[in-house]
Amino acid sequence: MFLHAGVRNRFLASLPPSDVAALLPHLRNVVLQPGQVLWRRGEMMDRVVMPHSGIVSLGIPTGASQAVECGLVGREGIVGGLDGCSAGRATVSATVRVEGTATQIDAETLGPLLSQNQALHNRLLQFEISQRAQAQQTAACNAAHPVEGRMCRWLLEIHDRADNNRLSLTQEFLSTILGVRRTTVTFVAGTLQSLGAIRWQRNYAIILNREILEERSCSCYAELKECLGHVVPNGNGGDAHSGNGVDHHPKLAPAAA
Ligand SMILES: [Zn+2]
Repeated sequence: MFLHAGVRNRFLASLPPSDVAALLPHLRNVVLQPGQVLWRRGEMMDRVVMPHSGIVSLGIPTGASQAVECGLVGREGIVGGLDGCSAGRATVSATVRVEGTATQIDAETLGPLLSQNQALHNRLLQFEISQRAQAQQTAACNAAHPVEGRMCRWLLEIHDRADNNRLSLTQEFLSTILGVRRTTVTFVAGTLQSLGAIRWQRNYAIILNREILEERSCSCYAELKECLGHVVPNGNGGDAHSGNGVDHHPKLAPAAA
């Protein structure tokens, strides 16, 4: 298979060449389409997905057509993880929120590779732990922190995983992930816009001033960034806006579906 240019997914980029070589024949590059459901809670997870761009949200269903978000995965992480490797059932739903690309591997292939390679297994476990920490922090945040602080945190987290300041994001979506009424989102968004932090357009939020968002975010953003940073350099996927987004790791070329 196909190896050239630079891998942007931090899990793949963190692996030593020997591990990449073991995985390489089994990897496929795929496109992530907005709204695409990778799996719903309770479904079998037959693959592990490693985004290079775009954002996948992890959610807990709260109604027939609603879910509260419990985590975001961008280029810093993996979707599926060890649960996917064991072909287990999904404990959360995984839905593409922002289009992008990813590399994926079938669970039935990755599972045996992990059992043969303890270092690879441990690395995947580190990423798994970081994502569970995110879910736990998000649960505490949802229960304890005011809406404005939570909204600022989500905007920062989405911005960290985006390639530019124009976020494909609606207030309807924010009301869902925050678990609050749309009118509440509109009110808080108006406040942030009046402060010059963001500008809302029809289906986009444009980040104008991250410093204001960081000042008004709840403490969870900084805590998560520090927590994830122990596992993943630029752990929140924050390389896109920190000026060090150049990745010199080899890149996987598109593979046959
Ligand atoms: Zn919080």
